[in-house]
Amino acid sequence: MTDECIAESLQRMPLLDAHCHPVLTRAVSTVEFARGCTEGGVAADGSAWDSPVAHSIRRWCAPALDLPPLCPPEDYLRRRAELGPAEVSCRLLRAARLSRLLVDTGLSGSDLTDPAALADAAGAPVSTVVRLERVAEDLARQGVAAARFASAYRERLFTAALEAVAVKSIAAYRSGLDMDPERPSPSEVREAAGRWLDGSNRSGRLDDPTLLRFVLWAGVDLGLPVQVHAGFGDRDLALRRADPALLQPLLEAIEPAGVPVVLLHCYPYHRQAGWLTTVYAHVYLDVGLTVGQVGARAQAVLGECLELAPVSKVLFSTDGYRLPELYLVGANQFRHSLGRLLDGWVEDGAMSADDGLRAARLLAEGNARRVYGLLSAATPATA
Ligand SMILES: [Zn+2]
Repeated sequence: MTDECIAESLQRMPLLDAHCHPVLTRAVSTVEFARGCTEGGVAADGSAWDSPVAHSIRRWCAPALDLPPLCPPEDYLRRRAELGPAEVSCRLLRAARLSRLLVDTGLSGSDLTDPAALADAAGAPVSTVVRLERVAEDLARQGVAAARFASAYRERLFTAALEAVAVKSIAAYRSGLDMDPERPSPSEVREAAGRWLDGSNRSGRLDDPTLLRFVLWAGVDLGLPVQVHAGFGDRDLALRRADPALLQPLLEAIEPAGVPVVLLHCYPYHRQAGWLTTVYAHVYLDVGLTVGQVGARAQAVLGECLELAPVSKVLFSTDGYRLPELYLVGANQFRHSLGRLLDGWVEDGAMSADDGLRAARLLAEGNARRVYGLLSAATPATA
C-alpha cells in the first residue's frame, strides 16, 4: 500500500542529527537518570517517570537493551546498570542509525564523551558546532585586556571554527531573544568587555547584552550557519523571552549576510518559528528536543511545525545530551511520527506518495546536508 511506504521507508532511512551534545561516560544514579530525561529536573517530586519522554524511553529504548517495550522502570534501570555505560551508549546510539552527528562542543567535562568517542559509540562521523558564548568565556578565563577583547575573540573564534560546520548562540538563556539587532560599535564592545572582565560577573558566564550581540555578529561574519536556541529548555531560561518571534528584527538585520539561521527546539513557539521560515529565506526550523520530549504527541507537534513551514525548511535533530536514551528516543519518535503524519496526508490526497517520500528524505537528512554544506564527501569530521 502506498500509504505504508513512507513509514516503512523512514524506518530504513538514516537520519542526520543536526544538533546534539556529548553523552556521559560514567554510570548514573536513579535520581540522576530521572532528572536527565526531561529538561525540568523534576526528580525531586518523583514525577519524572510519569513524563512523556520517560514513557518514550521505556517504549523505544527497552528493546535495544533486550527488554520488552514499556517494561517497568526498575527493570530498565537494573538492565542498564548490568550492561554498563559504554555498552548502553553503544547500543542506544547505534540503534538510532544516525548518518552523522553535529555536536555542540560548548558543554564539555571529564565525564562526557569528546567528539571522537561520541563518533565511536554512534558508529557515525561527528562534525562540530562552536558555541559562541563559550569561546568568550574561555578567553576571559585565560585573561585578556578589554581593549584587546574584540580582536582576540575574533581570532579565537576563527581558529575554533576551522573544522566546524556551524556556530551556536544561547542568547535566549542569557539576555533573551528580544535583542537589539544592531551591531555594537567598537567602543561599546570595549566598555562592555571592561565591565564584564572586571569581575562584575563572578560566575564567568557571558551575560552582558552588548557582548552577546557582539559574539553573535562575529559568528555571522564567519559565514557559517548560525544555530539559535529558541523555545523551551531548563529553568535557567526565561521562557517568555525565548519566543523566536522576538528575533524578527535581528533576522532582518542578518538577512543580507546570506547565512542560514537555524532556530533550535522552538516549542511551544514552533508555530511562530514555522511562520518565520516562510517569510525569511535564510531561516530554518530544527525540531530537536521537541520531538523527543513530547512523546506520543510528536505527530501533532510535527504537524503544527509543518502547518506553515515548507518541507524544505525543517530539520531533524535529537538534542541528545548526557543520556544516550535521548538520541534513540529522538530518532525513533521522529521516524514513527513523521511517517504516520505523511502517510495520513498522502491517504487524504494532500500530497502524492512521491511528495511524501521527498518530504521524509528532506527532513531526515537532505535539508541538513544542504544548510550545513555537507553534500560532498570531503566534509570535516572526527571519524
Ligand atoms: Zn541542545
